[in-house]
Amino acid sequence: VFDRTPLIAGNWKMNMDHSQGIALVQKLAWTLKDAKHDYSRAEVVVFPPFTDLRSVQSLVEGDGLQIKYGAQDLSDQDKGAYTGDVSGEFLAKLGCSYVLVGHSERRLIHHESDELCRDKVRAAVRHGLIPMLCVGEGLEERQAGNHVQYTLEQLRGSLADLGAGELEGLVVAYEPVWAIGTGEVAGPEDAQEMAAAIRAELEKLYGADFARATRILYGGSVKSSNVASIMAEPDVDGALVGGASLDAEEFAKIARFV
Ligand code: PEP
Repeated sequence: VFDRTPLIAGNWKMNMDHSQGIALVQKLAWTLKDAKHDYSRAEVVVFPPFTDLRSVQSLVEGDGLQIKYGAQDLSDQDKGAYTGDVSGEFLAKLGCSYVLVGHSERRLIHHESDELCRDKVRAAVRHGLIPMLCVGEGLEERQAGNHVQYTLEQLRGSLADLGAGELEGLVVAYEPVWAIGTGEVAGPEDAQEMAAAIRAELEKLYGADFARATRILYGGSVKSSNVASIMAEPDVDGALVGGASLDAEEFAKIARFV
């Protein structure tokens, strides 16, 4: 009943201009096709830079690809005097299905607060985009043993005042900051510990059905060589992949995770 289709997502960060982006999505689609990838077994999503989205849309729609895509960020506002920001409304018009909210690089480099993330989650939902909310502790909290408390606090803060009805389809990505782009991978048991804690918290906030239906991903130096053990954990429903998503063959292998 609670079908949590595994989700493998690639965050390209600030890599790939639009022509490189087209080439990457094309190669990914071919590789998955050759491997007879079953998209009902694992949904495949890419998060290119804003400037690539129109090109990715043309390719995906033109070739009828089953790969989905989204943006790495959005504004909490819909339109107006917000120079440099991008509205969820525009992203929805470009066929985006998902949008990342609160990636640790946004939280650290752009000082995004839980409150702003909450407003961005709300903006995403307002425009029919599925928010992929990123949470996760730094090395300091991990070493102090406060990682669960810290991450749940972020989760609560980034969802504050939002109701279950507004959050249908929400995806949560647990990304320990110390494991992002460092080659350090949290062990499968660490990913499971946090995913279970997040699910328990979602149950407290929104009830058991919501918690059981919500996909929780792990992110942090995921590769084809470690994805299987992470995906074997009962509360981990997918992976958010940075560096390894820039290589079509490697990312296709991750999407097949067996
Ligand atoms: C990320 O940025 O979301 C990420 C998980 O990066 P990497 O896979 O490179 O650690």
